[in-house]
Formats: sequence, structure tokens, C-alpha cells
Amino acid sequence: MTGTVIQSTGSFYEVRIPSGEIIICRIKGKFRLEDKKQTNPIAVGDVVDFEGVGGEGNINKIHPRRNYIIRSAPNKKEYKHIIASNIDQCVIIASIAQPRTSHGFIDRILLTAFLYDIPSAVIFNKHDLILKEREEQLLKELIFTYNELNIISFYTSVTKNENTDQLKQLLQNKTSLICGHSGVGKSSLVNCIAPELDLKVGEISKYTEKGLHTTTFARMYTLPFGGNIIDSPGIKEFGLLDVDPNELGHYFPEIRSRMNKCKFNDCLHINEKGCAVLEALEAGEIAATRYISYLTFYEELKSNKKY
Ligand code: GDP
Ligand code: ZN
Repeated sequence: MTGTVIQSTGSFYEVRIPSGEIIICRIKGKFRLEDKKQTNPIAVGDVVDFEGVGGEGNINKIHPRRNYIIRSAPNKKEYKHIIASNIDQCVIIASIAQPRTSHGFIDRILLTAFLYDIPSAVIFNKHDLILKEREEQLLKELIFTYNELNIISFYTSVTKNENTDQLKQLLQNKTSLICGHSGVGKSSLVNCIAPELDLKVGEISKYTEKGLHTTTFARMYTLPFGGNIIDSPGIKEFGLLDVDPNELGHYFPEIRSRMNKCKFNDCLHINEKGCAVLEALEAGEIAATRYISYLTFYEELKSNKKY
């Protein structure tokens, strides 16, 4: 039988078959890890074949992955952990107030999605909690910045039921990895558009702030109007894996599209003369927040402390 892995705990897997039934599966014998530096052989989103009897199954094949997204393993930075596979999009839920999501957090996930060629969207929830003009201005600027990069971005409010239909449309008939810090309203938004799922408010990624990732696992939920969402705890571990700091600019579309106009081939867009990126920044064509993320990630990769 063939099914989709909706939860992977490391010792057993929940596999959903087309009828909607969930079969608990294990790996038979030694399932070789193709990449030795990978901690989990099977991830949420994997399509697998299994032999089953009496409601249990043994997985014997993983179908080739269309894509996947990885982070470094919780305890061993040099090891990779697949968060999810076969994803259509990465949907980042953020908020400007209570709590404030940093643009660095958003840009880090965008970079990872870009690295793996996965489209992404940035949703700013809790719009009703924005009371200051300054915060509304920031919201508008961030939405503008992301839209300019061809990233879908808009605001929502669960309390005022603002733009939740737009979110529903975004998620419909797609498999979306939902990313975002605890408390931004991920469960509330999902409940608003899919009350059938009846998630506990605070249920999605409730462990993200605790830093204990070993007991938390991503899970896929089926949307009643078509599509799936994958909740991904441990999103803080999202690393800048496999990126050469000298090539970081390739993963910022606004830098990539300008870098061949830089005077020097090996321009890092930091303080070089004749840098087209710095000129665009000066002219206000590149958002300062994005450039700050670029510099931050560059320093991080260069110092290689984390990875
Ligand atoms: P999660 O941790 O991202 O899943 O966030 P929750 O859905 O658990 O929401 C955290 C808190 O924010 C709860 O108390 C929600 O009722 C509240 N909340 C969620 N969305 C909104 C919103 O749009 N406006 C306001 N005012 N509160 C919200
Ligand atoms: Zn440059």
C-alpha cells in the first residue's frame, strides 16, 4: 500500500492512506540513510510504500522526494534533519505587535525556502493589535518589500476576521509548511478557516520556545477544503545550511538581480566601490531590513560559529 507520512517520531510513523485512514508504520530492518549526515530517514510529507497487516505496517520504500527542507539536527550541528518533504509552499506567520516577529527571522526562512526552490508567503496576523501609526507603517513597508520580491504577503486578524478568506485561498489544494514563533496565532488562524480541525489554541509549535526539540515532531493536518498544512516545531533551528557566505547574495533575489552590475566580480556588497547593490540600497530600491539580514547572515556564515 502507498500513503503519506503525516507524523514521524523516529521510532514509528503515522501514514495516511487515500481513504483517510491512518496506519502506524515502522521501518523494517535497517533502512539505510542515503546521506550519513542525516538523522531521520523518513520525514513528514514522504510518500511511502508499506506492507500492512492488522492496522500496522512496515515501510519498505520511500518514493523520490520532489523537494525537502532541512535544518541542522538539534544536538549535532553538522547533521541534517529533514523537517518536511514534498512541500508546495512555505507560509510564514508573523506579527508586528504582541509578539513582534523580527524581519531577520522572516528573511532566514525565506532564504531557506529560496535555497530549496520552494515558494513562500509572509502573513502578518494580529492586525487588530496594531495601535501605533509607526507599527502600521512598518507593516505596510514589510508587505510592500515582500510583494516586490514576488512573495505573497498580506495581513490578517482572527479577532476581526480580516483577510482570512485570502489565507484560505492561499492554502487551498496545496501542501504548506507553516512557520512562525509561538503566539503569533497559527492555531487560531487555522481554526478560523478550518474549524473542523479544532486545534487547541497554542497547540501548533507549542514547544518552540523551550528549545527542547527532541520530543517534538512536525505534523501534517488535512484541510477540509483541500490541501494540507504541516506544523513545524523547532523552527528556530532553521539554519543557513550549505550556503557559502561568498554566494549568499544569490539567495536574495534583489541582490542577485543586481550583482552582475557590480564593478568587481567577487563583490560582497559590503563596502566595495562601484557596488550596484549598495547604490540600489542608497537609492531606496532595496529595503534596509533585507540588507541588514544579508549582512547578519553573512557575518554568521563567515564566523561559522553555528554551523
Ligand atoms: P500559535 O502559538 O502561533 O499557534 O498562536 P495561538 O493561535 O495559540 O494564539 C496565541 C494567542 O493569540 C491566543 O491567545 C489567541 O487567542 C491570540 N490571537 C490569535 N490571533 C489573534 C488575532 O488576530 N488578534 C488578536 N487580538 N489575538 C489573536
Ligand atoms: Zn556589489
